[in-house]
Amino acid sequence: MFFGSFALILVLLYFNYIDIKKRHYTQLKHYSKVVSRAIHSDLLQNEMILTVIGKQLLDNDNYKDKQKVQKLFDELLKQNPSYIGFGLADIDGNLMATSSNIKVSKDYNFLKNKKTVDDFKRVLKSKKMIVARTYFFKNIDEWIIPLRKAILDENGNILAVMITGLRNDKNRNIIEGLGVSNDQSIAIIKDYNYEHKMYRQYVSQIGDISNDIMYNTVIPNSLIESIKRTLKIRYDLSLDSLRENGQTVSIKITTSFNKSLIAGMTYDKDYKLWIFVQASGSTIVSEFFNNLFIYFALFIASFIVFYFLFKKIALSDRKQQEELIFQAQHDSLTKLPNRTFMYAHIEKWKKRHDTEYFVLYLDLDNFKNINDKFGHTVGDKILVEVAHRLEMFFYEDDMLIRQGGDEFIVLKECIDANNIEDNIESLISLISQVYHIDAKEFRIGVSVGIARYPIDAKETEELLSIADTAMYEAKKRKNSYCFFSETMRHENIVKTDIEQELRSAIEKDELWMVYQPQIKADGSLYGVEALVRWENEKLGFVGPDKFIPVAEETGIIRELGDFIINTALSEVATIQAQLNLEFSLAINISGVQLMEVNFLETFLKQIENSNFNRASVTLEITESVSIEKMDDVLNVLYDLQEHNIKISLDDFGTGYSSLSILRELPIDELKIDKSFIDKILYDDNEKALVQSIINIGKNFNMKTLAEGVESEKQVQNLKEANCDIFQGYYYSKPLTKEHLLEYLK
Ligand code: C2E
Ligand code: CA
Ligand code: CA
Repeated sequence: MFFGSFALILVLLYFNYIDIKKRHYTQLKHYSKVVSRAIHSDLLQNEMILTVIGKQLLDNDNYKDKQKVQKLFDELLKQNPSYIGFGLADIDGNLMATSSNIKVSKDYNFLKNKKTVDDFKRVLKSKKMIVARTYFFKNIDEWIIPLRKAILDENGNILAVMITGLRNDKNRNIIEGLGVSNDQSIAIIKDYNYEHKMYRQYVSQIGDISNDIMYNTVIPNSLIESIKRTLKIRYDLSLDSLRENGQTVSIKITTSFNKSLIAGMTYDKDYKLWIFVQASGSTIVSEFFNNLFIYFALFIASFIVFYFLFKKIALSDRKQQEELIFQAQHDSLTKLPNRTFMYAHIEKWKKRHDTEYFVLYLDLDNFKNINDKFGHTVGDKILVEVAHRLEMFFYEDDMLIRQGGDEFIVLKECIDANNIEDNIESLISLISQVYHIDAKEFRIGVSVGIARYPIDAKETEELLSIADTAMYEAKKRKNSYCFFSETMRHENIVKTDIEQELRSAIEKDELWMVYQPQIKADGSLYGVEALVRWENEKLGFVGPDKFIPVAEETGIIRELGDFIINTALSEVATIQAQLNLEFSLAINISGVQLMEVNFLETFLKQIENSNFNRASVTLEITESVSIEKMDDVLNVLYDLQEHNIKISLDDFGTGYSSLSILRELPIDELKIDKSFIDKILYDDNEKALVQSIINIGKNFNMKTLAEGVESEKQVQNLKEANCDIFQGYYYSKPLTKEHLLEYLK
């Protein structure tokens, strides 16, 4: 913009300069024309006066009577004070008479005087008035412009010459009122082209140059030549053609006094005078510089304005941008930086802590429960408070990020590696302290997973991922922390492999069901538990305890669950039909499946499709999964019970179920975990524990099932303890449908 407008201004200035120049030249030309007309008419008037006087003198040969002539002259002078006086000369140049104010010697002869001889000769040859050379007239002590006019008789013979003069007064501008301004001047140059001599007749402003030099020096030839050249170039005219046609032109000249001038010039053919109206060449320049100054002042002023304007715009732009960046990089609820912030700043942060640092992955325990029970407003307030406590806890240079939901990430500088465990413990106890929200008290736990740079991993993504894994490990205990370990890494890798292969397992027909018989205390068949099996090309045989959790985490369990239910129902239904034998079918159901929106509906339809007796279906739910989300599943369990579907609490004793929960749940069967059964033979405490579980079951009107029975002794012990049903290798390993058919037969 700066350079663009600078160039524009230069162009404008250029045209401005041309315009100023043109205007000055045109003006001078115009003035020259006006002035030359005024001078011409002035001279014409003088000529007429002289002609009239001459006529009077001719009458009765008056001019011969000196007394009469003088009297006439004096009278005339009184009426026309601009004349310096009058004189009359005979044709031989002798002064015959003068007005009485002129005192010259009686024998003055114009033809004998060097200064007057040329002009006098011209008068004798001309019928017109002659303007003679300006000279200093000692008699009256003034510079004068002499005028001469021949007096002719009727036949055209010259009888005498009238002589007068005009004051060449430098203070008197003879063309006053013609609009010529102070910085312009007028010069009248007398030109006899036949003599090649030019003299100044009148110059309105002579400055410090003496009249003598001004009027008594001939105009140098070099100046005339230069004017001729200029005329040739500008107008393609010669001086002679100008003399001929009286055209007005404008030129630039350097005077003999070395002044640079611009001028309009016109030739008066009658009186042989050049009329110049001239101005100093510097007037153009100074006017131009005035404009230049104004232009540049405006230019600079507008740039100052622009500068501040742009600065202001840029500033508010930057502010807005910073605001946007802040918004994009911060969480709106807690005002903590978010993941975007982390990715934007992590490289710099890492440079500052390149030797060692920790990545903490924090996840609040049971936060979902608070949200569900008390609403999101309370949940939000707790999150804000948690964020506040975290901010207080960590150092300025630790990078605290809200990862989303109830999860936070901290990049923690390593100040004292030995103290990190104490540090995390005090963090956990700080977060676990009571929260006062809306006049209520809340407690919340936090699980922390920790990854160490550079021991555990070097890449940020991996550090985050393994800290997350460690957090899941900590979650199993709740309100605790866990460092990432190599075992976890291995499990992680296995998990990833399992996930990848499991996605296509059903399609590839790699899954099948096996059935493990369940036997009543009297030795008759109670039913079977359906267990899934998977053999993969790459991973070989993978146990359900390995891939079921992966399926649950990744959501594959939905598809897998459908496969299990459909296969188990149809296969067992077929066997039952073949043998005409009805027995119970227990299907393991994951908590994730149970919480599917249409679980019950779909399940009922699946039972119906396979022609299965609903009353013979048992769903096994794992204690550890179901208890945590008890509120969610409780309704489903009641619905299932309503539809005559039995529920068995699997792995009983390994979870945290309290007796009060047992009373609330619509459970038909307690499945005592294998770990208890294993110990009853050699541990009396364990035996007593199993006994009391069986008693509790009886109290709540539930059947008790012992799983993992491997020996007869165990069976005997359990029978004594009044256990209802037995399942385990002692009776049979899980069997394929073909083997089950054989077994049942
Ligand atoms: P679970 O439901 O407690 O199943 C019992 C597990 O104990 C089965 O292992 C079974 O083969 C094993 N078992 C039975 N009797 C004995 C015994 O006398 N000695 C020993 N050592 N083991 C015995 P499996 O089939 O590997 O299943 C492991 C777990 O995987 C199951 O525990 C269950 O939680 C899950 N699972 C298996 N199949 C399914 C399924 O179809 N759906 C779901 N959701 N989970 C399943
Ligand atoms: Ca089971
Ligand atoms: Ca079990």
